[in-house]
Amino acid sequence: MYKRILLKLSGEALMGNQQFGIDPKRLEQYTSEIKATKNLGIEIAIVVGGGNIFRGVQAEESGIDRVQGDYMGMLATVVNGMALQSALEKAGLFTRLMSGINMEQVCEPFIKRRAVRHLEKGRIVIFGAGTGNPYFTTDSAASLRAIEINADVVLKGTRVDGVYSADPEKDPHATRYSSLTFQEAYEKGLNIMDMTAFTLCQENKLPIIVFDMNKNGNLLDIAQGKRAGTLIN
Ligand code: UDP
Repeated sequence: MYKRILLKLSGEALMGNQQFGIDPKRLEQYTSEIKATKNLGIEIAIVVGGGNIFRGVQAEESGIDRVQGDYMGMLATVVNGMALQSALEKAGLFTRLMSGINMEQVCEPFIKRRAVRHLEKGRIVIFGAGTGNPYFTTDSAASLRAIEINADVVLKGTRVDGVYSADPEKDPHATRYSSLTFQEAYEKGLNIMDMTAFTLCQENKLPIIVFDMNKNGNLLDIAQGKRAGTLIN
């Protein structure tokens, strides 16, 4: 069983089957998964994405400056983080939202020692605003924050149950890997996280598990050390 996990939830995951925004049913489902995992005594930190609301690359397409767009994307992650925080608190959990961009009326600034203290006290810590810097992604924020807080593993919750040799939604012959080394994933050109995020994990010997967050009980099983999804280490 892991002691401290970092869960990465993409904005798209929160969107559910909608085209945009946050699906309340999905939020409720994630909340109950997280609560069950927390009840085991596992310390949980969460990095939320913002792709359901805004991505910096979209900005360029619509004539908005890239850096400006990236900040808009980071603010979107705070919006998601606030929704998640609210859902978790409604379920009786204690939480803190910490942001890589200062906005003290809505959340705390990210301070490593304070984040660790919250975790030790049993609070679920949500990290918003990514790394606080443009040209990064929330996957990189997940790797970075996980290293900073000494998490045992990065759990990347997705819509598919692991890493496949090809896109399983397009190629019927695609096979799932149960585990891979960082080197193998790199050599096979598998797109697990962006290179910055991936390299950070590799260099700091931080394992990643890619798993299906939408399957009930999956997070709970993985947090207890049961094998599901794909382990990269
Ligand atoms: N972003 C950024 N720096 C970061 C994290 C995120 O500039 O450290 C911006 C970037 O524009 C990104 C957007 O925020 O596209 C939303 O994050 P991401 O695309 O990683 O969200 P996800 O795909 O996980 O929903």
